[in-house]
Amino acid sequence: MDIGFIGLGNMGQPMARRLIEAGHTLTVYDTRNDAVAPLVALGANLASSPQDVADRVETVMASLPEPHIVSKVATGEGGLIAGKRIKRFVDLSTTGSRTTIEVAAALSKRNIVQIDSPVSGGVGGAVKGTLAVMVSGPAADVAVLKDVLAVFGKVFVVGEKPGMGQTMKLANNVLSACNMAAACEAVVLAVKSGLDAKVAVDVMNAGSGRNSATQDKFPKSILTRKFDWGFATSLMTKDVRLALQEMKALNVPHDIMDAVERAWETAITELGAGSDFTEIVKPVEKRAGLVVGGEA
Ligand code: NAD
Repeated sequence: MDIGFIGLGNMGQPMARRLIEAGHTLTVYDTRNDAVAPLVALGANLASSPQDVADRVETVMASLPEPHIVSKVATGEGGLIAGKRIKRFVDLSTTGSRTTIEVAAALSKRNIVQIDSPVSGGVGGAVKGTLAVMVSGPAADVAVLKDVLAVFGKVFVVGEKPGMGQTMKLANNVLSACNMAAACEAVVLAVKSGLDAKVAVDVMNAGSGRNSATQDKFPKSILTRKFDWGFATSLMTKDVRLALQEMKALNVPHDIMDAVERAWETAITELGAGSDFTEIVKPVEKRAGLVVGGEA
């Protein structure tokens, strides 16, 4: 299939690469030249703007950092909305349901279908093709895309309305954000009492405390002190803020997620937006006066 791909960062880069390796023809665009260069080297066509992508292909995917950037790329000046060939826009970013519904409404006026397709599973999952792909959109368009999306991982068709895939993604990510914040405090408790950090994480993973933070993030990126997961603190904080907005809009209790949001706001203030999200352990370590794992 001829596919446009916009946003070739930590996630977009390996996903686009997998599409090329699966035999699809890509037309790529990113504001950074260093992001497009490796894909052009693999045979992708280079476009000069989102509109240029949408002039050339019927199906355009995007993996962009923030909701306002998705809106601009899709519906702003020089955006997809002005493209001559585009029929469907597949948003792989975590955008939140409100922006998605607005974008879908604007695009529908030009007969362009918006399809939610946020993903979970990190850069490792994007490289290996083991992501969870949460799709919502009109059945006929989803059917056209199902095999293509399967290149990224396991496809879950969660509904037909715009925003359903996005809300699914936020429910997943706010739980993942909770796992991270809670695991940092639990491991720091163990270490402050004199226990070894690796022993503590191994016990949790053999016991009932295990979760995605203790199973993946602590062993790979925190105990090693590599902090190299490839997901920015700004993006996880964005996801938590978006999830809380949706919880409040739907009158869902959010006492626990309020505390989780405070932990992520502290992390972004103290570590900076561009820090790796596994560094959220550092503010906890600082307050407890210790460091977990590594040689430090
Ligand atoms: P990233 O910042 O690494 O990549 C975003 C890319 O978009 C960059 O290459 C940037 O140059 C490009 N970009 C920014 N503005 C643009 C514009 N106006 N036009 C074209 N390109 C533009 O982010 P990421 O980690 O790859 O995340 C992308 C999306 O996927 C986010 O919504 C994030 O929440 C979500 N996500 C990330 C992960 C992860 O582990 N990194 C996992 C699941 C979902």
